[in-house]
Amino acid sequence: MDGDIGEVIANPTEAETKKHMIRTEMSSVETVLSVEPTATTDGHTVKVFANVANLEGVREAVSSGAEGVGLFRTAFLYFERDAPPTEAEIFNVMKQSVSIMQGEPVIVRTLDIGGDKKPSYMEFPKEKNPALGLRGIRYCLRIPSLLETQVAAILRASMGADVWIMFPMVTTVRELKQAKQSLQKVKCILTKRGASFNANIKVGIMIETPSAALISDELAREADFFSIGTNDLAQYTMAADRENDILATIADRLEPSVLRLIKQTTDNAHTRNLPVAACGELAADADAVPLLLGLGLDEFRVNPSDIQVIKRVIQGLKYGETKATAEEVLRLKSASETRLYLKNRFQQKRLRGGSA
Ligand code: PEP
Ligand code: MG
Repeated sequence: MDGDIGEVIANPTEAETKKHMIRTEMSSVETVLSVEPTATTDGHTVKVFANVANLEGVREAVSSGAEGVGLFRTAFLYFERDAPPTEAEIFNVMKQSVSIMQGEPVIVRTLDIGGDKKPSYMEFPKEKNPALGLRGIRYCLRIPSLLETQVAAILRASMGADVWIMFPMVTTVRELKQAKQSLQKVKCILTKRGASFNANIKVGIMIETPSAALISDELAREADFFSIGTNDLAQYTMAADRENDILATIADRLEPSVLRLIKQTTDNAHTRNLPVAACGELAADADAVPLLLGLGLDEFRVNPSDIQVIKRVIQGLKYGETKATAEEVLRLKSASETRLYLKNRFQQKRLRGGSA
């Protein structure tokens, strides 16, 4: 039984047993490994960062050998309380994270609530379709003080540290410009207060909607980095609720439409020399890693428990071959064809212990 991918195999074959033994061995060595760069057999380097949702997650990121925190989900700071956290509270958590990460980057996502995540003390309009409603940056832009408090804390934590800021659920250039105006305003306020911060903090966005992927050439003029949220990108591209089990096969992240949007995003980002990360479940899917590499992803952001597995998979791949794989997959007609293709081409090689 593989709880990570929700798979139960009755009467596993020898090859299947071996594959799962490798996964188990990898997770048992992860606590003793330190941060090491991740490169393919032909020397192409990518970063493997951790997704975390609280300070405990940051500690796990370190012990799992993550090269940084790639997605700090900050919603936990807002739940199980009666009012939003103060700037000091957010700052303290970020400062602690920076210190735990010992100089490695910490990428903080501003509050991504709305949809199914709503703190009781915050006001939300009644919405018939919350997933298509006021969530992520849309919500924060409507309550300037909510965004500015977070931005101030993140900016202050960036002083002398490698802290980046990232906005979720962006769909238009206007939203990104508004968020950057808020950043600019807070920089002026902090300067007046005599507080120090990194004036050149990196500003990025999550690419989670087809709109953002389609205008990623324009967004790339305004951002320093992209992070593709494959969970939401698949949900919104396929118009299929990611929480609805009945639609799981429709909201498939390997559908050709989702893959084309990923390719378009990486191409547009690279034209302006922006790095692009993959996060969400697809980034932690060992079978999909060769495809994502070939599509041009520069960073993988996965849960701490997946860090070592994904590093090992990348270290067994030949970058040149992943490029050819991506070209071939982009010609396939469905997610199931892609999955079968990737299984046949890479899984067998991994099981034999050979590089691909
Ligand atoms: C995503 O949408 O893929 C993502 C990483 O963000 P979250 O899962 O927090 O919505
Ligand atoms: Mg998301």
